[in-house]
Amino acid sequence: MNSTPSDTPTLSPELLTRLRKELADERAAAIHELEQLGADPASEKVAPIQGIDDNFADSAAATAERGEQLAFIENARERLAGVDAALRKMDEGSYGVCEVCGAPIGEARLEARPLSVRCVNCAGK
Ligand SMILES: [Zn+2]
Repeated sequence: MNSTPSDTPTLSPELLTRLRKELADERAAAIHELEQLGADPASEKVAPIQGIDDNFADSAAATAERGEQLAFIENARERLAGVDAALRKMDEGSYGVCEVCGAPIGEARLEARPLSVRCVNCAGK
């Protein structure tokens, strides 16, 4: 029934459906996190930290907290960008193909790390 040519890296529809759902969840989580951190998921804007007045804003503690907040935001943005790239590839049909050598990344690897963009060989280099 479900014969696929062995020379194309076609992923099973079941796996794709599952990964798509995982990515959608991850996307929602990253957006939620950005909102919690006071960042606009759609832009680079970052709201000021709530509850810190101007006198406190210059202190080292405030600076450290700000730096930590920005690191979290940066991390969430990267996740969001990775998820968006993976979803775009799914739509284009290029998901699961190594972006370096063009070889199939492999279902087991994608299952473990849905955001993988390189095959095991290229990732290890
Ligand atoms: Zn590769």
